Amino acid sequence: MKLAIASGKGGTGKSMVAANLAYTLAWTGQVTLVDCDVEEPNLHLFFPAPASAREITMPVPVIDEIVCQHCGKCGEFCQYGALTVLPDRILFFSELCHSCGGCMLVCPNDAIHEEPKRIGMLSVSNPQPGLKLISGTLDTGSPHAVPVIREAKKQAEKDPLVIIDTAPGTSCPVVEALDGCDACVLVTESTPFGLHDLQLAVDVAARLGVPAGVVINRSDGKDDETLRFCTDNDLDILITIPFSRDIAAIQNRGDLLCRVRPEWQKDFYSLFLKCRALAGVER
Ligand code: SF4
Ligand code: SF4
Repeated sequence: MKLAIASGKGGTGKSMVAANLAYTLAWTGQVTLVDCDVEEPNLHLFFPAPASAREITMPVPVIDEIVCQHCGKCGEFCQYGALTVLPDRILFFSELCHSCGGCMLVCPNDAIHEEPKRIGMLSVSNPQPGLKLISGTLDTGSPHAVPVIREAKKQAEKDPLVIIDTAPGTSCPVVEALDGCDACVLVTESTPFGLHDLQLAVDVAARLGVPAGVVINRSDGKDDETLRFCTDNDLDILITIPFSRDIAAIQNRGDLLCRVRPEWQKDFYSLFLKCRALAGVER
């Protein structure tokens, strides 16, 4: 089963939910936690451990200016505006390139070949028995979050139970992380902003056909509007985590609620069972 943990906005406690869920499930079997919040991966902070790492690259075109006849065909072909052919040279904007390889195919003079360009890193660790942590990290300034997410998910492809921590929001990286998941946990807070962003996240999950449920985090007990929205949209409340100085203090020192207060493990295990029911799959 592939389970995504998402939120319409940052700061709702999405990574905290993902980490506690993985920590709890690792005591019952093998679980893989994938950090797809590649611009700001932070799950490794909850699970410090030695990791193996490798570069993630994407193929980009390299033009042989001696062979090139400046015919313009590659520039005409590129739908992303990554190539501009001038009478005496070609301008290549690597940040716009999607690595489709088309320019190489249309060049009549074989003046283009591909070379790998680094866009990020992938690290894998085993911080506790039963738990594998995969983290994708996008290089600073690189716009290519989606291929890094794709590579991180691919690394977990054959694993039986995968929890994917997505980026916050509803943009392309979130869509890429959610795509193909069996169920999705949407973490929210009962504030007007929280509800607005929850609505957007619900819409994205629905469009991708991923069944979703809701975790209310830092609840102050005034959850009426969120509860009404969830009832109206047929969304289960999977668990509610109250606002508490004790929980905040645990998180602020980078620890896990379920590690420090093991009584919470039953709540996170119940969250998992509800997700399994949502997904309609066996573990
Ligand atoms: S590989 Fe595709 S996206 Fe990149 S420059 Fe060539 S045609 Fe454009
Ligand atoms: S298609 Fe080939 S020959 Fe034509 S401008 Fe591009 S690189 Fe040069």
